[in-house]
Amino acid sequence: MSPPVAGKPRIAVVGGGLAGLSAALECAEHGAAVTLLEGRPRLGGATWSFERHGRSFDNGQHVHLRCCAAYRALLDRLGTAELAPFAGPLAIPVLRPAQNGSPPRTAWVKRDGLPAPFHLARSLVSYGHLSLTDRLRLLPAALGLRLVREDDPELDRSTFSDWLAKRGQSRAAISRLWDLIALPTTNLRSDEVSLALAAKVFHTGLLTVADAADIAWSRVPLAELHVEPARRLLESLGAEVRSKARVSELLLGPTRSGEQHRVTALRIEGSGSLLEADAVVLAVQHGEAAQLLPPGAGIARSSLERLGTVPIVNVHFVFDRRVMPHKLAVAVDSDAQFIFDRTPAAKLSPAERATHQVISISLSGADAEIGERPQALIERQLVALRQLFPAARGIEPVDAVVTREHEATFRGRPGTAELRPPARTAITNLALAGAWTDTGWPATMEGAVRSGRAASEVVLSALGRRSRPAPYRQEVTA
Ligand SMILES: Cc1cc2nc3c(=O)[nH]c(=O)nc-3n(C[C@H](O)[C@H](O)[C@H](O)COP(=O)(O)OP(=O)(O)OC[C@H]3O[C@@H](n4cnc5c(N)ncnc54)[C@H](O)[C@@H]3O)c2cc1C
Repeated sequence: MSPPVAGKPRIAVVGGGLAGLSAALECAEHGAAVTLLEGRPRLGGATWSFERHGRSFDNGQHVHLRCCAAYRALLDRLGTAELAPFAGPLAIPVLRPAQNGSPPRTAWVKRDGLPAPFHLARSLVSYGHLSLTDRLRLLPAALGLRLVREDDPELDRSTFSDWLAKRGQSRAAISRLWDLIALPTTNLRSDEVSLALAAKVFHTGLLTVADAADIAWSRVPLAELHVEPARRLLESLGAEVRSKARVSELLLGPTRSGEQHRVTALRIEGSGSLLEADAVVLAVQHGEAAQLLPPGAGIARSSLERLGTVPIVNVHFVFDRRVMPHKLAVAVDSDAQFIFDRTPAAKLSPAERATHQVISISLSGADAEIGERPQALIERQLVALRQLFPAARGIEPVDAVVTREHEATFRGRPGTAELRPPARTAITNLALAGAWTDTGWPATMEGAVRSGRAASEVVLSALGRRSRPAPYRQEVTA
């Protein structure tokens, strides 16, 4: 059992993903004695890095946008923001493979100097992967989307594609344009994702502030960008960070004031030892939270289970020369989706640095790919790369590896909004965090960090401490 720390409330944070890390940091910075308990041998949760043949890879390419103010504020606090620079104003080449002897074709989604939402108008009107009729219908639909009210509960009753179809958007427009945004941000295609989640993404990223969708991604492995820096900062604030410490039970008990229904301790698997705590942030995946939430928390286990999951698959290639001329490209009518040149983050040896290129293909909404054999995936993605980039033809990669995340995000279908619980539970000293909680955002790093802060506010206030205001606008209160 942990002894009380003189004068400091003891807060246990369960789960060392971005939600848990940010909740732990907030609590430690507000003077609590924090213990972070992570079940796996490593921190980082859904964001982790590994080495293979001396090169660094991430479990999946992660990007964030300029509108991700909470994640960006976390990087600032960790002193690593410059390791994930913005790649200039939004400008994404959209590639269509070679067809019937014609070469691959490129159109651009990019912003110009006009205010939102007109900053995209020029690129939409000239978007060559759609017919002129489809192109002319894009802007009225975008303006219509801007007018929907995010707080209208009706939005969560239909899919995004139903809404788009009613605004004259063809199947081609949906798959070659709207899904370019909806799929990587919500992890579902327009025909499955809730209009509510899609509206949140388009409002926040594209239709309100002109530079909100400028893209940034890490020049170093994610472990170096936010995982290890967060651990170091926590430890410097006096927090205890324990990995391989899986929590198997939250124990309720009476408190000194005689009040029932407070979490008083956590049981740690294996050792069976108990950790006493004055408050707990549960920052685990929703399926795990459904198992751990004690009775009286006021959250139905079935609601969390109904949130479902969606996989993400990444296929990583190492070539002994440059095959892709872009830092980032997206493919339509192709097996590939978003394609990244992640050479800088691969930490290549000096001998390889001048020549080699490391490419990661990120496949969102990967229900079809998750069960596919790695070799089959590699071969299929190699074909796709060769159709898009002539320089990849006739050469073999020097290495290729597949990373698969079966439960990458929750499944944001219509009806999901009411299943996402807030940070506050019916047990005053127990709060929930995780990208799946009611942040208003899809399951993203941004949502995870926001949820961690919201949960820290709940437990700090239960312990009579006031938190500092967030350095960004909080849409959903704790
Ligand atoms: C491949 C991939 C690509 C992605 N791409 C992007 C992207 O480009 N941009 C973006 O913004 N987001 C992206 N995401 C989503 C983003 O990574 C997640 O939404 C976010 O990291 C989730 O953080 P979290 O803390 O809520 O949950 P998690 O990271 O899942 O953390 C939960 C932690 O709790 C631990 N845990 C579980 N049970 C217990 C227990 N009983 N005891 C102790 N510990 C426990 C787990 O081991 C885990 O470490 C991607 C996700 C994946 C998988």
